Order: sequence, then structure tokens, then C-alpha cells
Amino acid sequence: MFEALWLLLPVAAASGWISARRSGSRFDIEPPSEYYQGINYLLNQQDDKAIDVFLRQAELDDDAAETHLALGSLFRQRGDVERAIRIHKDLIDRPGLRKRTRDESRLELARDYFASGLLDWAEEALKELIDDGVLVEAAYEVLIGIYEREKEWQQALDAARDCRTLTDADLSLREVQFHCELHEQALRANDRETAEQHLGVATEIAPRAARVGCLLAEAARRRGDLRDAVMHYERVVSFDETMVPEVAEALLEALTATGDERQIRAYLKKLRHQPNTYTMVSTAAGLIAKLENKGSARQFFKDQLLKRPSLPGLAHWARLEMESSSTETRAQVGVIVDMLERLKAKRPTHSCSVCAYRGHQLYWLCPGCHSWDAIRPIMGDEGE
Ligand SMILES: [Zn+2]
Repeated sequence: MFEALWLLLPVAAASGWISARRSGSRFDIEPPSEYYQGINYLLNQQDDKAIDVFLRQAELDDDAAETHLALGSLFRQRGDVERAIRIHKDLIDRPGLRKRTRDESRLELARDYFASGLLDWAEEALKELIDDGVLVEAAYEVLIGIYEREKEWQQALDAARDCRTLTDADLSLREVQFHCELHEQALRANDRETAEQHLGVATEIAPRAARVGCLLAEAARRRGDLRDAVMHYERVVSFDETMVPEVAEALLEALTATGDERQIRAYLKKLRHQPNTYTMVSTAAGLIAKLENKGSARQFFKDQLLKRPSLPGLAHWARLEMESSSTETRAQVGVIVDMLERLKAKRPTHSCSVCAYRGHQLYWLCPGCHSWDAIRPIMGDEGE
């Protein structure tokens, strides 16, 4: 219940001020109001009793109404949406509440509906706010969140565009993601033309975005333009180094498929002269084994591991050692391999830069905090 403590200050201040104002003297303070009783209930985790006390308050001045709003949000953040809805509905129905507070209560109620999965109700409440021209940007923010949750990408895009027209909000990077989603959706429906249009707009808005670069590379591969695909993958990693593990395999695959041995060897030479992420090293080692020989691949792997040690690299190296060990020592090395593999399997490979989400693959929309383009492979000793 520690979260409730922060409410004490404004509440106490408000109720003290109300008492003093009513008595006409700042020294003649009335006994604690019902508010203290409500706070007491909150502190004793008797939330329903607390809410009853708050809702029984016959009159609310602006400070007290603000406190009710904060209390409602607090309940919602704790996942107690029913209580949040009770508080926000009560505020909206109160006569004499100033317009700003009523509008904020309407927005909060829409957020409550969203949080409880009543998406149609939330959508309707938000559209009413937008039609009334109040809290438009904040209402669009929640509305777009609803469409994202429903994967209604065209509606999300339309809402983002409308919001940009009506307010100063810059939602361009989010629009890029919606175009990328619509591009992929059109590809799944075999609608190449629509897919191209969306990718074209996304490229115009954010030519350096990692996702746009990856989609451009994939489009080039589909039409058989492998050099173009390699160029786009290289651009992706030149703008965003953390994308290397994500594109390493596709990049080397496209490069190999060009059949341009000079370019392939030049690329491998470049890799040999720099430290590389684990995924790039293991993929390139496979390519070296095919182009040259296993010994050369093994040497490349060891050199790279010394340049940039990592847990997955060490586990891989131990496995290679085990494979080339004599029969007598193989079982001993196997113990180390097993332990390293177990350690590796326990570790997440991807993390979100905004929230605490950790997982094993790149999602463009974070499942934890719903931020776009915030998940990347984990770098460092335990990652790449
Ligand atoms: Zn996140």
C-alpha cells in the first residue's frame, strides 16, 4: 500500500485548506474530514470502504477532484480496473465539476475500458472526446494503442494521420511501422502492388529505419536482385550495429547466392580484421568451411572468440573442441559443453530498451510495453 502514501500529501493539503477556508480563518482548522477516514482505509488495504468514503463526499473542489482522478489511475495501474471505473464514472456524473476535470475523467474512463479489454467502449469514448475537440492528442494516443492491440493496421495508420493533421504530434515513426505491417499483410495476401506502395511510403519517411532496410532487402531477394539485397543489409548494419546478429545469416546467404567470389572473399577479409558478433562469426565460419576448409573456419572462429568473447561463443568453441577430442577426453569436455549450453539456454537473447522485457526473438512491437523498434539482441559477455 506504499503507493497510496504519495496521495497523502495533496489530500491532507487539500482537506486542510478546505477546512480553513470554510471556517474563515487559517488558524481555526476543523477536525480531520472524511478524507482522513478514506486514507486510513486505503492504508489498511480496505479499498472498497475507502472508495465508499470518497464517493460519499457531497462536494468536490478542484484539488479533491484531482486527487480522485489520481486515485482512479492508481487503481488501474494496480490492475484494479473495476474500482478505477467506479471512481471515474462518479467524477463524470458529478454536477458542478469543472470542464477540464470532467474531460480528464472521460479520458481516464476510456483508459480503464482499454485496460479491462472493453475495446469497443474505449474506442467510442475516445472518438467522442476527439469529436468534442478535447484532449485530442492524448485520446488519439490511446485510440492508436487499441488498433495496435487489435492489429488493425489501416485504422491505426488513419488515426495517426488524422492526429498529425489535428495536432502537432509527430507520429511519423509509428506510421512507418504501420506501413511495414501493411506491407507484410499485403504480401501474405499476394497483393504485391499494395505491398510495394506501403514499403515505398515507409522508405520515404524513414529510409534509415532498420525494419525498412530489412524489408527492402527481402523485397530485393524476392525479385532475385541479390546485389541489391546485400546492399540493403549492409546499410541496415551500418546505421544500426545492433542489427548485425539479426541480418547476418540473410546477408551471407544473399552474398553467397550472388556467386561473386571476389566480393565474398572481400567481405570475409573485412570480417577477419574486426571483432564481430557471435551470430555473424558462427555464420561466417560455416561459409569459410565451405569456401576454404574446416581448419580455416576453426581458426577464424578462435581468433574471433579472442577478439570478442561471449557465452554463446564459448559454448560453441567448447563443442568444437569436444568434436575433435580423443575418445578418452571427449566425455570430460562434454561436461563443460553441457554446462555452457545449459547456461546459454537460460539466458534471454533479446531485450527491450524501454521496459524489462527479455525474450528470445526480435519483435518490432514490444509485447511488454508496446513500444515500437525497442527490442534488439543483447550485446556483451552473455549475449552477442
Ligand atoms: Zn518494452
